[in-house]
Amino acid sequence: MKKRYTMPIITIITILILTIIFSAIYLTYLKKLTRNNTLKNLGELTKQNAAKIENTIQEHKRILETITNEIEIKKPKLKEEIFKIFERNSGRQKFSRIAIMYKDGKTITNDGETLDLSQNKEEFFKSNNIQISQSQKSQIDNQEINIYSKKITWNNEEVVILLSLDTDKYEEIFSQSIYNGNSYEYIITNEGQIIANSKNEQNGQNIIKKLEEANKENKNENLKTIEKIQKDIKNNSNGQTIYFVNGLSYYTAYQKLQNTNWYLIVFTQGKIIAEELNKILELTFIIAIIIIFILLIITTYIIITSQKQKEKLYKLAYIDKITMLGNYNFFLEEGKKFLSKYRNNNYSIILDIDKFKSFNKKYGHNMGNKLLKKIGEILKETLNNKAIICRLSNDLFGILLNTEKDIKETIEKITTKLSKIKIQDKTYTIYISMGIYKILENEYNIKKILDKTLIAHNEIKGNYNKKYKMYDKKVEEKIEKEHELESIMQEAIEKEEFKIYYQPKISTKTNQMVSAEALVRWKRNGKMISTIEFIKLFEKNQFIITLDKYVFEKVCIDISKWKKKIKNIPLISVNISKEHFIKKDFIKEYKEIAKKYGIKPEELEIEITESALISENTNYIKEVEEIKKEGFIVSIDDFGTGYSSLSILQNMPIDIIKIDKTFIDKIDFDKKGNNLVDYIILIAKKLNLKTVAEGIENEEQAKYLKEIDCDLLQGYYYSKPLESSQYEKLLG
Ligand code: C2E
Ligand code: CA
Ligand code: CA
Repeated sequence: MKKRYTMPIITIITILILTIIFSAIYLTYLKKLTRNNTLKNLGELTKQNAAKIENTIQEHKRILETITNEIEIKKPKLKEEIFKIFERNSGRQKFSRIAIMYKDGKTITNDGETLDLSQNKEEFFKSNNIQISQSQKSQIDNQEINIYSKKITWNNEEVVILLSLDTDKYEEIFSQSIYNGNSYEYIITNEGQIIANSKNEQNGQNIIKKLEEANKENKNENLKTIEKIQKDIKNNSNGQTIYFVNGLSYYTAYQKLQNTNWYLIVFTQGKIIAEELNKILELTFIIAIIIIFILLIITTYIIITSQKQKEKLYKLAYIDKITMLGNYNFFLEEGKKFLSKYRNNNYSIILDIDKFKSFNKKYGHNMGNKLLKKIGEILKETLNNKAIICRLSNDLFGILLNTEKDIKETIEKITTKLSKIKIQDKTYTIYISMGIYKILENEYNIKKILDKTLIAHNEIKGNYNKKYKMYDKKVEEKIEKEHELESIMQEAIEKEEFKIYYQPKISTKTNQMVSAEALVRWKRNGKMISTIEFIKLFEKNQFIITLDKYVFEKVCIDISKWKKKIKNIPLISVNISKEHFIKKDFIKEYKEIAKKYGIKPEELEIEITESALISENTNYIKEVEEIKKEGFIVSIDDFGTGYSSLSILQNMPIDIIKIDKTFIDKIDFDKKGNNLVDYIILIAKKLNLKTVAEGIENEEQAKYLKEIDCDLLQGYYYSKPLESSQYEKLLG
């Protein structure tokens, strides 16, 4: 039974594993996807922020451009005028101050300070374009500043106009920065020097150094990342990458600020963006897996309950509740499998408990059931694994056995083990009988095999000396023939294959035929089928009723035909079987048929065998009285073979006794007056009954019977049963 669960459980586990694997793959894929997307997104945002910074720088440059242009066009003489131009061009709002640097480095600011920048002057004078300095401390107020500068010619002298910008101004841009301030943004030079940052950290440090410092774990992948950033910013390339610190991922994007040597580099904690998303994804997956799991549990439950249901039904259909052995259906199903597994040396055995009914009556049903169960157990114990043991019906066990040993040994073993059975400390003696059939090599039809085994078993019925019987093919052939006859009997009637023969009965007084017996014959395809055989079969299957009636009607037809031509027709006797004559109203029916052909009942004799009249402790006096009442003549056939008592004979309203052939055959001619047949005739005379001797085959017999005053003689000595036309010739 456990096997039945393996398949569904394996399926479920497989589905579960597949789901988990699939989920894991999908999750990794999604993580990667979100990571890439986040990076891309970060890159995009960085680009936008960079654009903002670029705009600001551009604006700063434009202011400086406007101021220097105006100076060069208007050519003011005084420095105060230059400061005014600065103020007019709203430079005041952006820049903290303006200054003019002379060739020697002397620098004068608009708030009246004079500084000596001779040390750095080269830098300022080296280019004609606008230059932006790195962050530095203002010498005036120690503020962190960046200086925008441009070289011009003023008052025929080369000077540099300087605008100082508080570094804070860049940092203001960061205040509306990406990811709600959860990011670190730096403006750096292409060397990595920090110019401005979003977190109020010290500027001027090198970002690369900072990253290297953060990589305390000395992670190789971090080193690679740092190297890449360093290389990229040197080569004016933009990029995105991931950086790990203490197990946390930092998404990084860097974007070159146009028209400068500067970069915007942004760091943001992966946790904040991607991991938040990953968590949702993970949760979704966990929920999905839980749902799948629940669904699987439900399905498993359904499968298991339906399996249980199936098992229940299976048990009902295949298991015998009393013995817990398989039943008839089981025998058919499993038997087939058994035979295909073990091809040779297979036997089918039917085991029957003799007088099980009496056992039940004597000890009760409960004990009967216990006996059956015990027998099942003993059989299981006795036979090895290579056997199927079933209870086919009440007290009938069916066994399929595979054994290379002599089967008789096994049978002996079973018989011995089952002869005395102990149930609850009490020992019962039981008798069993078995039918055995050796199964042929390629024989798989269990029903047919069972039939054969039953045929063998049926052969022991009533033979209590025998414990078992092997199957005999002849018996089966007989049964097969019977089946064949049964299949064609109805058709035989329709095709008029049954013919009526007449056997004369001769009067010992006149030596003339005074009567004849109608006997049926069955000729099929030119071959005679033995009358005894088909009559016995038809008595078993009740077809005899149909046939008797048919014969009776044919006889009536014949008589009516003869009557038209001939006077004084001999009395015709017809045989009737027991099944028929005990049937209600049968004689009325016969009378109707006779009437139909204008025949009086007294023109017909009905032969009933002795064994039919008196059997199973009942006699049918009433039925015979009925027949007599209708006017038919009644004879008792095969007299002497049954067990009728004289008293019954006396009360039975019969007319004729037909002495069975066996008595005729047994006549000892030297013991005249002392043969059984002498006494039968004596008694018959006493009872006023006519006598017919059957089976007279020779003159001696005929003579003897004449001498002891038997009334009629019938037998081959006078005539065999004759075809209707031949018999008609005898009538003259
Ligand atoms: P039965 O009624 O005892 O019929 C006599 C049988 O003895 C007939 O066999 C007959 O052919 C045979 N017989 C007659 N004289 C001799 C003889 O000198 N020597 C030998 N050895 N046999 C002789 P049959 O015709 O084969 O019939 C066998 C039995 O079948 C009959 O025995 C009868 O019981 C039954 N039977 C025949 N026809 C019918 C029928 O139409 N209806 C019924 N119910 N039974 C019939
Ligand atoms: Ca007869
Ligand atoms: Ca007879």
